[in-house]
Amino acid sequence: MILTLKRPDLIRTENFINGQWQPSNLNESYPVNNPATGQNFAQVANSTAQDATQATKAAYEAFEDWRNQTTKVRSEFLLRWHQLILDNAEDLARLMSLEQGKPLAEARGEVAYGASYVDWFASEALRTYGDIIPETVSGKQRLVVKEAVGVVAAITPWNFPLAMIARKIAPALAAGCTVVAKPAEDTPLTALALVALADEAGLPAGVLNIVTSSRDRVSDVVGAWLEDARVRKITFTGSTAVGKLLAREAAATLKHLSLELGGNAPFIVFEDADIDAAVEGLMVSKFRNGGQTCVCPNRVYVHNRVYDAFADKLVTRVAALHVGPSDREESQIGPMINERAVEKIERHVQNALQHGATILTGGTRIQNDIACGPHYYAPTVLANANHDMELAHEETFGPVAPLFRFENEEEVIQAANNTPFGLAGYFYSNDIKRVWRVANKMQTGIVGINEGAITSETAPFGGVKESGYGREGSRYGLDDYMEMKYLCQGNL
Ligand code: NAD
Repeated sequence: MILTLKRPDLIRTENFINGQWQPSNLNESYPVNNPATGQNFAQVANSTAQDATQATKAAYEAFEDWRNQTTKVRSEFLLRWHQLILDNAEDLARLMSLEQGKPLAEARGEVAYGASYVDWFASEALRTYGDIIPETVSGKQRLVVKEAVGVVAAITPWNFPLAMIARKIAPALAAGCTVVAKPAEDTPLTALALVALADEAGLPAGVLNIVTSSRDRVSDVVGAWLEDARVRKITFTGSTAVGKLLAREAAATLKHLSLELGGNAPFIVFEDADIDAAVEGLMVSKFRNGGQTCVCPNRVYVHNRVYDAFADKLVTRVAALHVGPSDREESQIGPMINERAVEKIERHVQNALQHGATILTGGTRIQNDIACGPHYYAPTVLANANHDMELAHEETFGPVAPLFRFENEEEVIQAANNTPFGLAGYFYSNDIKRVWRVANKMQTGIVGINEGAITSETAPFGGVKESGYGREGSRYGLDDYMEMKYLCQGNL
């Protein structure tokens, strides 16, 4: 391990089940690699179906007590956990930055962002109101109460190793659910540290359990949860392909599902937009996390009349981005997560060039004295993008902004919506009538209007169409972990 933390005890490599850190039942581990170099820097538990089932048993047995705690007890636990996350923010950011590759400044931002969900749901825990139904007949009293759904399995991706798992665990625990979790195989250490802090905050044994596994074992671990009727909900963030697989498998025991899946976000710059604001918005939304974000604009539509001005300003900004290792304070774009990710970016760019795109900046891997490793890709702007290109239909998940020209509003809305995905969409316009018209027509769960930074713990995050269903954050976020019970009292 090459990492020095103020709290080395936050580096955990075993599973946490029923309040105990323990190796996988086969005592096996798998390597976690530094994305910059591809070199192994830690070994974590390579779990099996048996480990997953042991975690389920612990969560199931802890459920009755946890759901019967007062909301104040659950809220106070979340507040203590929140404080511990903030107290250890620098260690968490360094750990995340090492295993995921995002620049330190962004990793610090993600710790604060993830922590904000814990704080938010500490408050929301206190507001799980039900309803009293006004009576239409005498002699009856009818109520609706909300109850925790039960054991929740949380499965998360590598691109936001802390925020994705925090925004699932916090509402689940607030609602009174217990949790079994599996972080992405590339980035388990941040999640394990987060669980260590939950333990320190005084969470009862069995309420929160985490197991890690390599990609080869993931079907065994998640499969054990899918077939177990004690697991009542799967909350998943990741690719649409895996989301569909989970939906099919979860049908056997009719589990609740929240699916936060892939996107293919359009970003539209109308002729009446503030061009500087649009460039700024694209920089924020496209190049954060090296473009490895589900709400990243994947297709940038620019009106003919402002295309050249927008492209010039954008290229100046993109070419000036600092690419380098995540632990250098000046780095703005770190390495991509792994070789597979860089190969996909290369494939999309090559395919775009074959279909008539031209490179305005970037367009290659970079390896030099600063960005010294095989997984760095230059921030890229492509001109003359069109819908024959692969990148128009599939997330590139890298620092590539393809510019499409358009001529009129109707045509661009049709193009923007012409995708099976519907997570986020953005547009820039200063015409108030157009703003309402276009917002109404966008087929996405989230719309950024003259704004590139759209995520917040106070707002509902989630998609439509094949980007999934369910919402995280906001007052709606708790509903995903609760179900209604109708009580009808007669003979009054
Ligand atoms: P992925 O679907 O490959 O993996 C996500 C999680 O699912 C990981 O924990 C992985 O181990 C697990 N998994 C993989 N195969 C599985 C299987 N057969 N059975 C059960 N679990 C399995 O996705 P990824 O590459 O880690 O993440 C990138 C994807 O996630 C992108 O498509 C991105 O858009 C999406 N994403 C969505 C959101 C959102 O909120 N909508 C947020 C971040 C990322």
